[in-house]
Amino acid sequence: MLSAEIIAIGSELLTPTKTDTNSLWLTEKLNEIGIDVKLKTVVGDDELRLEEAVKDAIKRSDVIITTGGLGPTEDDITRTVTANAVGRELLYHNELENELRERFLGMGREMPEINKRQAFIIEGARILPNPNGSASGMLVEVGEKFLAVLPGPPRELKPMFENHVLPELSKLRGGVVFRKQILKVSGMGESAIDEAIAPIYSSYEKVRTSILFNKSDVEVHLTAQASSAREADILNNEIAQKIVRALGNAVFSTKGEEMEEVVGNLLKKMGKTLSTAESCTGGLIAGRITEVSGSSAYFIEGAVTYSNDAKMRTLNVPAEMLEKHGAVSAEVAEAMARGMRERARTDYAVAVTGIAGPDGGTEEKPVGTVYIGYADEDKVTSRKIIFPGDRYLIRWRTSQAALEILRRNLIKGQNE
Ligand code: ATP
Ligand code: MG
Repeated sequence: MLSAEIIAIGSELLTPTKTDTNSLWLTEKLNEIGIDVKLKTVVGDDELRLEEAVKDAIKRSDVIITTGGLGPTEDDITRTVTANAVGRELLYHNELENELRERFLGMGREMPEINKRQAFIIEGARILPNPNGSASGMLVEVGEKFLAVLPGPPRELKPMFENHVLPELSKLRGGVVFRKQILKVSGMGESAIDEAIAPIYSSYEKVRTSILFNKSDVEVHLTAQASSAREADILNNEIAQKIVRALGNAVFSTKGEEMEEVVGNLLKKMGKTLSTAESCTGGLIAGRITEVSGSSAYFIEGAVTYSNDAKMRTLNVPAEMLEKHGAVSAEVAEAMARGMRERARTDYAVAVTGIAGPDGGTEEKPVGTVYIGYADEDKVTSRKIIFPGDRYLIRWRTSQAALEILRRNLIKGQNE
């Protein structure tokens, strides 16, 4: 397998203000054609460090991709430094300067003289046109190695990579295509899942399977290798179907969909409506549901009832109940779900109340204790879960569990 590495260039990428997203995108694209990204580096605008990084990269990897630093200003050092690193000259291209001048004239401006720098290209490099910006990219073959020098702005980098670099690299790969498919499983641990599905995936030589835990669920990643995208997809689908047969309803997603999309699709299909009442998640569940476009077809109302007073006023939770059992209790979770469903006149309601921490835990109800209420026309139920994790994770896991309880009930409702 060919190995690749990525060098993201720019001092701002070392700070919290700007994140290097290019390398994540590039990694996914490279993986799809079966090139393994082994390493990425973020280098500030420092000539020595960058030259070292490029030289090291060429020594150890087959494909090296740099992004950023191709602009016309003094701090854009990539052009000069990559040329030095491969021991070649920068050659001036008159036609590139003319194109740049025309580009500027097209925008009603004179080309600033410093943009002339962008007409210099590494000797022997292929020039990669940039319809979205002024910096051309470069593709350089260094012996057996490939070095692609690409601009930093994602809207310039992405089309350049897809139109000019990817086809070259695919040729190197001899027409082998890799496609990925993600299944998501709720309510089962990694080892139990592996035990159940290992007999399935181990019989497929052309598919790489990995099982990993992600925040609240386990994901099964399938990467099929074939001579066309279609063939690879068929292979992935075949395994996916067998996995669903083995694990049943625990699989909530077979194409990487988020839980809120899955629940939304079910509600839409059934023509049913939903409302939410949230305490410890502060609207996270409603936020996730409404992130899905078209959610107005089924989502009616969400209330963030953080205080006891709000739970009484908005959801009709009795004062005595709050007094007797506390806001974090099965009784209150159920009363919240019932109250919300009546208030919003929806088919379903879910409610959550819990202790997200880091403060507020007691011996009886430690941080992470959550009650999830559920109401439909036949019943009102609740479930207690104690989640591990920090405040962020407890809130996220609570939202996921509430949606999962809803999903399980929707599936039951659908089959009745
Ligand atoms: P320009 O001609 O715009 O100066 P450039 O090739 O010199 O292009 P940079 O100056 O390094 O690119 O970056 C320009 C902008 O592109 C940055 O401000 C940033 O918003 C974005 N960018 C650069 N590198 C990355 C990266 N690795 N990931 C995401 N965005 C990036
Ligand atoms: Mg720049």
